[in-house]
Amino acid sequence: MRDQRLALTDRFGRVATDLRVSLTDRCNLRCTYCMPAEGLAWMPRDEQLTDDEVVRLVRIGVELLGIKDVRFTGGEPLIRRGLVGMIAAVARLSPRPQIMLTTNGIGLERLAGSLRDAGLDRINVSLDTLDPARFLALTRRDRHADVLRGLRAAAKAGLTPVKINTVLMRGVNEDEAPALLRFALEYGYQLRFIEQMPLDAQHQWDRHEMVTAQEILAGLAPFSLQPDSVSRGTAPAETWLVPGYVDAAGEPARVGVIGSVTRPFCGDCDRTRLTADGQVRNCLFATEESDLRKLLRGGADDREIAMAWQAATLGKRAGHDIDDPTFLQPARPMSAIGG
Ligand code: SAM
Ligand code: SF4
Repeated sequence: MRDQRLALTDRFGRVATDLRVSLTDRCNLRCTYCMPAEGLAWMPRDEQLTDDEVVRLVRIGVELLGIKDVRFTGGEPLIRRGLVGMIAAVARLSPRPQIMLTTNGIGLERLAGSLRDAGLDRINVSLDTLDPARFLALTRRDRHADVLRGLRAAAKAGLTPVKINTVLMRGVNEDEAPALLRFALEYGYQLRFIEQMPLDAQHQWDRHEMVTAQEILAGLAPFSLQPDSVSRGTAPAETWLVPGYVDAAGEPARVGVIGSVTRPFCGDCDRTRLTADGQVRNCLFATEESDLRKLLRGGADDREIAMAWQAATLGKRAGHDIDDPTFLQPARPMSAIGG
């Protein structure tokens, strides 16, 4: 029976029930807004949690701390060999959490069926352009067709609704918002635009270069979007209805915008994060981490680990303060934190 006193509650009364687990900091793409062309100094293998260690920490989160949703991410989670086995192990936990995956889609064509069979519930595939040449410029790899095949395979495997994550960049792909939405509507995918955040390894993010939620919505004017009556809850995306379209389940089609910078949702945040080397982060933008791997490898029992996780949550700040002059970009880039 779960001990309620160990819920992941912070000083502002927010309760973390959504766990993001980064399985690797490595990736087979080099998206310009994420990492440099030459890649990064990857985490040494012995610092990375083993599959069993990942599953143990997720189990502690679920059984002792009230975690209800588990999302695997990275880096690129599909390149982690033990992914299917870890999903299967998490799916056997009680109470069973919802299991999600965020991926660039490369290799998904081959893996979608086994991921679904292992217990994966839903998937987000990142796609920033419909143009293969732009994809090559943006990701520095010629893999556009792989992603499209991955999307189709995910839908066929029943990982629905398949969601697409898109980051728009000024002068790069900002003109593609309507075409990307038409594509998503045609195939029954749910599209969500994400404002670019100061989490790139190169530290080149520029507030004035960012395409804002307001600009994204202005670009979608031809669709006459309508406000969505369904409450946003703790979800980061604000959603709009797209009149005249239905999704794969016959529900009114929706499009989402995640205005992390200009429309922050920190007050409703229910996230906690685990890096591939076993550090708990209470926020994407946190500058401090708590080392659960050291406890784990030092022989701590489940309850000691749960209490350290709980203590790490207490220090969560009220908001990310990106607009504050004292804002400091975290030392780890998005690819090493887990997006
Ligand atoms: N490699 C996987 C992928 O691309 O989906 C998972 C990890 S990636 C870091 C997770 C998400 O973060 C992707 O949708 C990606 O577009 C997004 N992302 C990466 N860097 C970002 C940034 N600086 N601002 C906003 N979103 C970013
Ligand atoms: Fe890799 Fe995802 Fe970063 Fe692109 S956004 S480089 S796919 S981790």
